[in-house]
Amino acid sequence: MNGASLDMGHREWIGGLGRRVLEGGRLAREEVLALLELDRRGDILELMAWANRVREQQHGNRIRLCSIVNVKAGGCAEDCKFCAQSAFYQTAAPRYGFIEEQPVMQAADEAARNGVAALGIVAAWKGLEEGPLLDQVCRRLEALAAHGQVSPDASLGIIRNQRVADRLAGAGLRCYNHNLETSRRFFPQQCSTHSYDDRLQTIRHLKAAGIKVCSGGILGLGESRADRADLVLALRELDVDVVPINILNPIEGTPYAGQTPLPPLEVLKTIAVFRLVLPRPEILVAGGRVVNLRDLQGLAFLAGASALMVGNYLTTVNRPVEEDLQMLRDLGFEPEGYAAPGREEAPDIGGHADDAAPSVVLETPA
Ligand code: SF4
Repeated sequence: MNGASLDMGHREWIGGLGRRVLEGGRLAREEVLALLELDRRGDILELMAWANRVREQQHGNRIRLCSIVNVKAGGCAEDCKFCAQSAFYQTAAPRYGFIEEQPVMQAADEAARNGVAALGIVAAWKGLEEGPLLDQVCRRLEALAAHGQVSPDASLGIIRNQRVADRLAGAGLRCYNHNLETSRRFFPQQCSTHSYDDRLQTIRHLKAAGIKVCSGGILGLGESRADRADLVLALRELDVDVVPINILNPIEGTPYAGQTPLPPLEVLKTIAVFRLVLPRPEILVAGGRVVNLRDLQGLAFLAGASALMVGNYLTTVNRPVEEDLQMLRDLGFEPEGYAAPGREEAPDIGGHADDAAPSVVLETPA
């Protein structure tokens, strides 16, 4: 085949997969992997165009916004290699204990002013057990629910006990972020202090409690394209509601400080493949997008993303919210805020995403 016919063959093949998804069909693992293996710019742009159609079909032209507030920072006893908040690594990330209610409510006011749909309270610790700390967390969630202008979300690590998830639900929690981070195969190279199965179990407890699940991962850890395929297929299997995509922002002091960044087109291609595999869930552009996508950030939405984390990340500063809102309006999107339950359908969006390297400004706690 010459170059032109090869282009046409790829375009037809990509179009066939895109049409199948638009008609309600699913992609097989080998198809997902083959899409992730596309390297030619023209093929990636074709793929993005189909992912954009799927986003438009499922989500229209609105982009949901969420923000996070770090209620306990740094000193985490886990050893996630991408995380600036791990006590295993010497980083410049802030450290403080569980914060009072007032700064959480200030963050809620700011989120509401920015038209943000959801505010996730995030803590750098292994997870939540029954006890006084859970009581305090529930009080913060109840205060957020009473505030009434942002959806009360959270990202608070591993949950091993169904009663904990039930308490959170009772306090008004709508959506909980707990990322798989990467494939089952690659996860043990990222963290030795808890397991992939711990994460799966947490998600099962959340679902049993009726809490929406926000779960995604981090790109750029050195994972293979097969690892990305298996991550997105695991998320499809779990039927999650929101999928944050973080991109490693290598933080000085972590094992990934010198990691080579992914090319922006590789990131955009991956977002597009995630959209074709996951038509219905929100796909949330989270930590690391400013440093990794730079001027191409807006293309993430034309590659299928339907949600955006705005405001600062956990350990890094994001760009001003107004710049993000302007970017979305310039692209013809409608940034979507919160509608209290009972008035209109309330957006279900996750609390935060991790950041790689935490990065991402973010990092996801557990
Ligand atoms: Fe701790 Fe979460 Fe960071 Fe892992 S990702 S070190 S669990 S804060």
